Amino acid sequence: MTVSPSLSVTRNGRVLIVGATGFIGRFVAEASLAAGRPTYVLVRPGPLHPSKADTVKSFKHKGAIILHGLISDKTLVEKILREHEIETVISVVGGATILDQIALVEAIAAVGTVKRFLPSEFGHDVDRADPVEPGLTMYEEKRKVRRWVEKSGVAYTYICCNSIASWPYFDNTHPSEVLPPLDRFQIYGDGTVKAYFVDGTDIGKFTIKTVDDIRTINKNIHFRPPSNLYDINGLASLWEKKIGRTLPRITITENHLLALAAENRIPESIVASFTHDIFIKGCQVNFAVEGPRDVEVGTLYPGDSFRTLDECFNDFLLKLKDNLEPVHEENVSTKNAVVESRAVTPTCA
Ligand code: NDP
Repeated sequence: MTVSPSLSVTRNGRVLIVGATGFIGRFVAEASLAAGRPTYVLVRPGPLHPSKADTVKSFKHKGAIILHGLISDKTLVEKILREHEIETVISVVGGATILDQIALVEAIAAVGTVKRFLPSEFGHDVDRADPVEPGLTMYEEKRKVRRWVEKSGVAYTYICCNSIASWPYFDNTHPSEVLPPLDRFQIYGDGTVKAYFVDGTDIGKFTIKTVDDIRTINKNIHFRPPSNLYDINGLASLWEKKIGRTLPRITITENHLLALAAENRIPESIVASFTHDIFIKGCQVNFAVEGPRDVEVGTLYPGDSFRTLDECFNDFLLKLKDNLEPVHEENVSTKNAVVESRAVTPTCA
């Protein structure tokens, strides 16, 4: 592939990350800083939740330059891109503000010096997956941003990282912040449809690797680590092995998930529709990565390994032990007492 010099991002080019205080954004910003890249973080103006303020402080401590503003403020974003000579822009904004990225794309195109844009994708290939409503509306918005980016002529990379490594609760958008269950497993359908589970640190690490790689220009990058391909029955067995006990399994039927989606409660119904798409329809595994614009990340970086799901579940076990010392069989409560489901926010794969 021949790439014009104006398109190739320099190895240590400046990266602007929007949404770095968010769930997925934190992994991306941490990885950018760990890779030694000059990292600029755009934070929304106004008071921050204490945990987000701590996150920003920690980024700053690691060398990030903190800027304030909204991506919908095109004039400000243009000024930032010019003044700081930004080469790469990564957006990790949440599901509620996907369309705000249109103004961001316009600013990037107007400035003309950004060499790569990664819009907020970080889930499925939205041109292929076809969830029921209300998840479909979010995908339509992501598709609209894709078309806008493609029309703008800005070089892009779409990160299709599949599911974050965790128990995939059908009612929680940030599942890796909640431990797998300790009372019972809810199995979607017959529990045999497979999906890919990727640790958050690997989502960050491989995303950052792609930004100056000419092989990822204008491509969909699929994360399919073979060691992390599980169906939900397998996930349940893995967790049972870790906690040393078996748990009852109840079935959540396809109709149940569809009924939850049809309630149209945002964001819960969005998560239900994605859960249906993943674990009933098999949206992560029902196509081959073989189109001219598709690349599997493992083929790009064969020397770099992914954390296995087994290792990720060890982390959950450690969290459990830290919070429930001493862990004896009889002390493991039937409820997940360690991390309660946090309030869901309107984002998800
Ligand atoms: P969050 O809601 O956790 O974070 C969104 C971030 O974007 C926050 O930092 C927020 O700032 C910032 N932001 C939002 N709007 C603006 C704006 N207009 N200007 C500047 N900053 C803004 O998002 P998620 O991490 O949940 O979602 C990010 C992406 O990852 C989405 O595309 C989502 O679909 C995907 N995702 C994938 C998952 C998977 O398993 N593969 C799981 C979850 C999400 P503030 O802190 O001020 O609100």
